[in-house]
Amino acid sequence: MPTSLLWFRRDLRLGDHPALLAALDDAGPGGDVLPVFVLDPRLWRPAGGPRRQFLRDCLADLQQSLGGALVLRSGEPATVLPALVREVGATSVHVSADTGPYGRRRDAAVEAALGDVPLLRTGSPYAVTPGRVTKGDGTPFKVFSPFARAWRAHGWRAPAPRPETVRWLRDVASEDLPPAQDLGATRLPAAGESAALAAWDRFREELLPGYPDTRDRPATDGTSRLSAYLKYGCVHPRTLLAALPDDDRTAEAVRRFADELAWREFYADVLWHRPESAREPLDARAGAIEYDSGPGTEELWTAWAQGRTGYPIVDAGMRQLLGEAWVHNRVRMIVASFLVKDLHQDWRRGARHFLQHLVDGDLASNNHGWQWVAGTGTDASPYYRVFNPTRQGKQFDPDGEYVRRWVPELRDVPARFVHEPWLAPGGPPPGYPEPVVDHAAEQQVALARYEQVRSGG
Ligand code: FAD
Repeated sequence: MPTSLLWFRRDLRLGDHPALLAALDDAGPGGDVLPVFVLDPRLWRPAGGPRRQFLRDCLADLQQSLGGALVLRSGEPATVLPALVREVGATSVHVSADTGPYGRRRDAAVEAALGDVPLLRTGSPYAVTPGRVTKGDGTPFKVFSPFARAWRAHGWRAPAPRPETVRWLRDVASEDLPPAQDLGATRLPAAGESAALAAWDRFREELLPGYPDTRDRPATDGTSRLSAYLKYGCVHPRTLLAALPDDDRTAEAVRRFADELAWREFYADVLWHRPESAREPLDARAGAIEYDSGPGTEELWTAWAQGRTGYPIVDAGMRQLLGEAWVHNRVRMIVASFLVKDLHQDWRRGARHFLQHLVDGDLASNNHGWQWVAGTGTDASPYYRVFNPTRQGKQFDPDGEYVRRWVPELRDVPARFVHEPWLAPGGPPPGYPEPVVDHAAEQQVALARYEQVRSGG
């Protein structure tokens, strides 16, 4: 019987899965599909506890959906897959394309190691595969808005149907799931495809109409919280785009939400064209920006990482990161700006810290989100924009509900002082620090450093 191998990576679902359909097609009537996941130490080790745990739970969910047929093997994919192909006599290996820098290198190595057995890529984790949308002259977009317009104009295909029956090849030896991670008090969302679809249904039915108003309010449950599911492909963005309502009442909300998905696609596209941008500033001039490394740097880093800077919205965000392995988008921008422009620390260290602690940690969205804030990446956020943490707090968390939730020391501080407790009569409440730096002064320092780089001084 012909057997095709389906190598799951960032596509841990059975619905809207073109590579699964291609594997089925290849096996033909009466043929079998062997579902495989390779636990690659190069991805597993640096992922950090929350992502490892979430991935483990997604695999458990997939294993259940496959009736126990999923084969788990750990090791170097270029060694593990050819061995498995020989073991079961598979004639092809099917994947959803991985367009990240490591994924591309790894897949090229696997392809070479497979020899005559083809590695067939169908679909990707994006509505439009990175690299497909270019300017008229064939060069990549560097700015979001024109990319988003071209992305919409390019369009995407309809969701792929969920196959009714698949003959999964059974009784192939598998390792056990990796052990559960000790996450302490950190709480993660339920993992897997059905949890993703349930979260999506709830968001679409209950929250989407209010999205334009609530999406910037960190105290409100106003966004979809789908990022970790998108990261591991428990749901495909095409599924979401196809199910968006088409009526006047929600038109603005739909546009805003699709725009956010477009940001995800834009950053993946930038990374595809410029793989080195995962580590280096996109804007080469920004490589010369001076970051602090002298005495006191480590103390300030620790204050930031532990949520003890004395700036309530920054501290709430960093404590949300530790408590939920997720942070509201507005607050991600605020805490990132604070590290880079108030504490003058390298965005790359902040980005690594996020990738270790976020359950949705994703190289393209994270590192380009950091570059956007640091003013080293895709344009739009001009280098001189420095988030004022007090003003941002007052604007987006006016009653202080969010900061009180994550910084209990501030629970009894009156609303008018909750974003600047150092002004409250008697100063900050017991146990809560004075600001570790003076924002107004540090803003000037940051601007001077950026100006120096821009003027080539
Ligand atoms: P929603 O508002 O419901 O948006 C829907 C989806 O659109 C998200 O799930 C996400 O896939 C995508 N999206 C939304 N905003 C952005 C954005 N600005 N950039 C790219 N995609 C976006 N997102 C990640 O998925 N992984 C990361 O590691 C990550 N790191 C970030 C680091 C920084 C410094 C910043 C400023 C942003 C980062 N983001 C990252 C983007 C964004 O903060 C999250 O995607 C969003 O908060 C997830 O919550 P949600 O699913 O409720 O979003």
